Amino acid sequence: MIVETKRLYFNDPYQWEFSAKIIDRLRHNNFPAIVLDRTCFYPEGGGQPSDKGTINDMEIREVIEHEGRILHILAGEIAGDEVEGKVDGSIRFDHMQQHAGQHVLSQAFYKLYGAETRSFHLGEEVSTVEIAMESAIDLKIEKVEKRANEIVFKNLEIRSYFVEKSKIQTIPLRRPPKKTGTIRVIEVDKFDYTACGGTHPFRTGEIGLIKILRRERIRDNIRCEFLCGWRAFRDYAWKTRDLRILSNQMTVAEKEVVSTFEKFQSEVKDLKKQNRKIREKLVGLEVEETIRKSGGPLIREIFTGKTIDEVRLLALNIIKKGSYVVCFAINDKQRVHLIFARSGDIDIDLRELVPLVSSLVEGKGGGQPSLVQIAGTNSTNLDKAMEKAARFIKEKQSIEVY
Ligand SMILES: [Zn+2]
Repeated sequence: MIVETKRLYFNDPYQWEFSAKIIDRLRHNNFPAIVLDRTCFYPEGGGQPSDKGTINDMEIREVIEHEGRILHILAGEIAGDEVEGKVDGSIRFDHMQQHAGQHVLSQAFYKLYGAETRSFHLGEEVSTVEIAMESAIDLKIEKVEKRANEIVFKNLEIRSYFVEKSKIQTIPLRRPPKKTGTIRVIEVDKFDYTACGGTHPFRTGEIGLIKILRRERIRDNIRCEFLCGWRAFRDYAWKTRDLRILSNQMTVAEKEVVSTFEKFQSEVKDLKKQNRKIREKLVGLEVEETIRKSGGPLIREIFTGKTIDEVRLLALNIIKKGSYVVCFAINDKQRVHLIFARSGDIDIDLRELVPLVSSLVEGKGGGQPSLVQIAGTNSTNLDKAMEKAARFIKEKQSIEVY
């Protein structure tokens, strides 16, 4: 017959140290696991992770319920049958705040909008509830948050008691119980009744602030991320600091940060538009200047301090202006780029230049008959490469090279 472990956390969730006897030893996933006659450790369940801590100073990896027993899975073996257990109180208290906060939040959704809670997950950073709601506009969320925090500020008692399954219909439970036999009821003073085996504080004030962070549609539900207690406090702390930094840098009041940012965004958009127009104008001028300087249909130039995109744009704009062949190079010491382009009415396949000049700059390239690019790593023979390209074009077209 299985001897049930006495769950000390049912009566006192703030008892974090205890002594107990080992009543069974087994293994779980290759780690030693022990069953105790009594424990303060909460095993994972109901959306709440298991407690952390030590037994005889040995670290607990996990506490789980397995076939009706509570298994304390240890990092290593421990000797003796008498043990001292220590629950990590800060993690436990955090779980109590998030978990009890969920009871209050779920009832607030239910009371205000008849929306049931489909699931709950207590995460390491944020917790989530899935609420059976078609839509959740800001106003609804604000009302739910307000109601939940009213319950916190009223500092209502949170009671726990056991009720026989046969009498459970006398309790206005928010959800029907999943378990059979005696049911443990958690009552937030006439506000919420839930069948629950978890850990909760004694009064709602201990939950601290309840804050919904964001929400999203998932399946037919609305999933809300929320924080309670110290988590909400820490969140408020960094958000206040960051908002202060932003407001200082923008030299506006904190409440004006968003509207000022929106103004900045539209200004940036306008500036980008202006910038584009100016650049187009500049390219136009540069095209004319380059054509004028070249004095012929073959335009050669080696650039430094220009990007490939700038040079390519210049080349493409020149060949649109008339009947031209462009041989451009960019020499930026580390790398060499060659761009060859021609107007549509000149019948030369510029791809033939690739095998001809690539080796001179230790490069590779390719493109279309009217536009070729080569990227190389050696600029020593760049002049030679340009000369060779010009000669090739001249022979093909019999045009004058100046
Ligand atoms: Zn609970």
